[in-house]
Amino acid sequence: MIPYGRHWIDEDDIASVVEVLRSPFLTTGPVVDRFERAFADYVGSPHAVAVSNGTAALHAAAFALELGPGDEVIVPPLTFAATANAIVYQGAEPVFADIDPRTLLLDPAASEERINDKTRAMITVDYAGLPSRYDDLTVQARTYGLTLIADACHALGAVSGGRRVGSIADLNTFSFHPVKHMTTGEGGMITTGDKELAERMRRFRNHGVTVDYKKRSRTNTHAYDMKELGYNYRLTDIQAALGISQLAKLPLFLQRRQQIARIYDEAFADDPAIIPRFVPGEVEHACHLYVLQLNLERLDVDRDMIFGELREEGLGVNVHYKPVYLHDWYRHNLGTKPGLCPVAERAYNRMITLPLYPRMTDDQVQRVIDTVKRVIRRHERETVAERNAYGTAAKGW
Ligand SMILES: *Cc1c(COP(=O)(O)O)cnc(C)c1O
Repeated sequence: MIPYGRHWIDEDDIASVVEVLRSPFLTTGPVVDRFERAFADYVGSPHAVAVSNGTAALHAAAFALELGPGDEVIVPPLTFAATANAIVYQGAEPVFADIDPRTLLLDPAASEERINDKTRAMITVDYAGLPSRYDDLTVQARTYGLTLIADACHALGAVSGGRRVGSIADLNTFSFHPVKHMTTGEGGMITTGDKELAERMRRFRNHGVTVDYKKRSRTNTHAYDMKELGYNYRLTDIQAALGISQLAKLPLFLQRRQQIARIYDEAFADDPAIIPRFVPGEVEHACHLYVLQLNLERLDVDRDMIFGELREEGLGVNVHYKPVYLHDWYRHNLGTKPGLCPVAERAYNRMITLPLYPRMTDDQVQRVIDTVKRVIRRHERETVAERNAYGTAAKGW
């Protein structure tokens, strides 16, 4: 089975982790500081705060903004549930706004329609690795006095308008889960230009405690105070060491991802049963996911049937994502129903995520292409033109 995503670990990654294992500090210490600095420099943001995973990063962002009951936050439905869950953790309400059918990104016109007096923030998702409509969303956020959060878990390394994702929105969150661009096993990061928010998130990841390991050892004191209710969302130095060495290889990982995506683009460009991937010219796509959209009008089966056959043929295909509000928890607790975001639902019913990770060989890429084409051809409906042509030929027989 060719998986849909996979990490890439080299000997130098292993060596940097082993080095920390031999050092006096295992959990959040000097290596986390170094990882944060390196990450902030890479994305071009003044501050980076490392946490235990991408969901914790979203939670920390929601906490830092003091979101709470009575507040609304706009989110697109085509994302991992964590994006919306983080708002719920704070007692605030996620309000789903539909996506653009071409880019599958939050549609600024749809988000504007959902803004009201209770709206405090918007979380945009750089779906599949394509940067959000940052220009329009920033203007919208400023106009209505909202904070713009980017769930950039798909878009590490992406560039929009000459700026790297992570330096554009007010708060930007990343994940280092093994299927993402780089890994720390589990891990996450928030970047921001706001020093106060960064400090609040640093406290939040450590139980809301005001004095960290550095200050306590510097000042020879046992005293600390818990000012706010935080969590233990710390990243370890062991993980941060892996993060630093992975970050150094990120440009290579990205290059290979983009190369594979281009091969897929070319292979599927003229296939009438596939809707071509739309990539605007002025951005650099981070290619976290390669999402194929089926032209169901040309097929005599649905997505699940094609999906099942691709799995049977050994492709670890996936679907990203069922619109969040269609999950049972949301239906029961927020009363959301099908039909809320028709563009996202339509896209969901057509999409299949193909394997894409830097260590895929050219042979594996070709096997994916050949298998997809073979399975699709099996289910292609004759077009009206083809049927007519056949009918004419049959008459002459
Ligand atoms: C991976 C991911 C997350 C959550 O990250 P974890 O590290 O798994 O907690 C959140 N949002 C999106 C869009 C993701 O892809």
